[in-house]
Amino acid sequence: MPENPERKAENSMSQEIDYRTYFHDYPNEEGRFGPYGGMYLPPELVPAFEEIAHAYQTICHSAQFINELRRIRREFQGRPTPVYHCQRLSRLFGTCQIYLKREDLNHTGAHKLNHCMGEGLLAHYMGKKRLIAETGAGQHGVALATAAAYFGLQCEIHMGEVDIAKQAPNVARMKILGAKVIPVSHGLRTLKEAVDSAFDSYLRNYKDSIYCIGSALGPHPFPVMVRDFQMCVGLEAREQFREMTGLLPDAVTACVGGGSNSAGFFSAFLGDPLDIYGVEPLGRGSAIGDHAASMAYGTRGVMHGFESIMLKDDKGEPAPVYSIASGLDYPSVGPEHAFWHDIKRVNYVTISDRDAVDAFFKLSRYEGIIPALESSHAIAWAMKWAREHKSGAILANCSGRGDKDVDYVIEHYGYGDEFIEEGNNAAE
Ligand SMILES: *Cc1c(COP(=O)(O)O)cnc(C)c1O
Repeated sequence: MPENPERKAENSMSQEIDYRTYFHDYPNEEGRFGPYGGMYLPPELVPAFEEIAHAYQTICHSAQFINELRRIRREFQGRPTPVYHCQRLSRLFGTCQIYLKREDLNHTGAHKLNHCMGEGLLAHYMGKKRLIAETGAGQHGVALATAAAYFGLQCEIHMGEVDIAKQAPNVARMKILGAKVIPVSHGLRTLKEAVDSAFDSYLRNYKDSIYCIGSALGPHPFPVMVRDFQMCVGLEAREQFREMTGLLPDAVTACVGGGSNSAGFFSAFLGDPLDIYGVEPLGRGSAIGDHAASMAYGTRGVMHGFESIMLKDDKGEPAPVYSIASGLDYPSVGPEHAFWHDIKRVNYVTISDRDAVDAFFKLSRYEGIIPALESSHAIAWAMKWAREHKSGAILANCSGRGDKDVDYVIEHYGYGDEFIEEGNNAAE
């Protein structure tokens, strides 16, 4: 179940992993993290993904590529983003200290641009002309359209008609940035159909296009490549926290949708003596269809081109999932997370919609930071951790800003007065 009190006792398993050579040892040549990952594709697409894997293998060791990515991060994205000490929020829970890595201050307002710029630069080096992807809530589409505009590449975003109707502001952003938004009108007209449509287009155009996956999942090399592109988040945060305090935090936490912001964040801390918490969305409850806590309730299987832990229905198809945070409602999780779960390096826990909304309002009211509802899950866990510990510091990744969620939240929860605890006047 979500919290895992046995972790410390069973820690012996994690001793088999040597974190000094971890990034060399995992994934293996086939893109496997232990039993998870791999490349499950229709035969026609295997050469296309092998081409990407080969190009990435070469390019990620090139000084020119690395320097160019560093320059883009500094000059275009505004990196490094800061680490911030939430003193007023921390005071609510006693003597523990809560710190945030501020990915909400990354250009476009979330961490997703970190891997989209990397994917764009890879496409540029490979001589591709077009970026192809699907999007659900539109966040990945907007980040990719931004990267395409930067590199002067065409961008084709496949999106279900139902999602297009729900996410008008993101659709508008993609079009302003010059992306072609392709409406998908078959089936349920949401993300699943958009994936099929994007794959179809890629199959027809893979010579001059690259398919850009939006998280640390999908067929090899995307889980490792996206994690690498996101690792700047963890590396920066670790250095910044040490500069601020002279120490490492006692715990780090991030929300887990597909697992990109968390994978990049956690990677920098794997070898450190601290606890790592990945936070999954418990939504409205534990019944199937009410949550998207793949690790807590899922089983082993293959979907969307990779092997991992996933939520399946009676027929073995991806189960319906739900979260208040649209960026977290995915029925599986990147394969490296499944591996970290098995070796007990990361504790996977859950936070409900309501607790996420509580964190959304508290961070807004006590610190002047409106977080994305996705990020609010990690902040809620940090608050819970602070309440349950007598001393120490927890560093949470604030993966994005909450402007996109404001309309939804006030419609369903008002302005949050009920979440501000009595006796803790936010204005004091
Ligand atoms: C998409 C998104 C997430 C979840 O995606 P991961 O791949 O798990 O990181 C989290 N936070 C924000 C702000 C997002 O947009």
